[in-house]
Amino acid sequence: MSDPVLGLSGIDKTYNKGRPGEVQVLAGVDLALEKGEMVALVAPSGAGKSTLLHIAGLLDVADAGRVEIGGADMSGLGDRRRTRVRRAEVGFIYQFHHLLPEFTALENVALPQRANGVARLAAEDRAMHLLEQVGVGPRAGHRPSALSGGEQQRVAFCRALANSPRVLLADEPTGNLDPETADQVFETLTGLVRDTGLSALIATHNLGLAARMDRTLKLDQGRVVAG
Ligand code: ADP
Repeated sequence: MSDPVLGLSGIDKTYNKGRPGEVQVLAGVDLALEKGEMVALVAPSGAGKSTLLHIAGLLDVADAGRVEIGGADMSGLGDRRRTRVRRAEVGFIYQFHHLLPEFTALENVALPQRANGVARLAAEDRAMHLLEQVGVGPRAGHRPSALSGGEQQRVAFCRALANSPRVLLADEPTGNLDPETADQVFETLTGLVRDTGLSALIATHNLGLAARMDRTLKLDQGRVVAG
């Protein structure tokens, strides 16, 4: 079998090690995400989902263990390489959209591509294409404050996919929306993941959404187990 798109092995993480408030969050996490898989990560609040996603997405460093993306070992990379790999290979979606308020939807989706060296017109073309794919094309010229919560989150999906990453990491991506909008927006996200064939790890409290993914993992006592 080929290498997993994302592989974590033996990941440990303790905050405030050796200091007051020490908290061991991850204790030997093993996880493999295959190409095209959409996997739910379910656990109660405080169990370490965000910590795990941040380590998997190279935003934080584990105390021990190995992170591989596309078969390449990410341990020991310097900050600049990590940032470069993260920009190219990983898309992040959060519970809140975190769009830049002073830029339009189109610009918000074009900006990460510009940071990756894509020319302005090509970046805007791709941004428009993605926005149209999620039904926000007609709102492309609006700033985030003029968009609904569902539209804002759809734009955030486009931004996460703008650089055609291998891996999509999402932390409660519909957690801030009313149930009906959450359902529609999740459907959009599923469509995007399926169309692009990328692999997604999606943390959620929502067991109904988890059941619509390929499989569920649980975070239990600092380890990942089958759901
Ligand atoms: P979840 O996403 O499942 O809610 P988190 O990964 O955010 O869980 O947090 C796991 C535990 O680690 C919690 O007890 C949280 O308080 C603690 N924690 C998270 N980030 C930090 C940090 N930067 N410093 C200290 N403790 C932290």
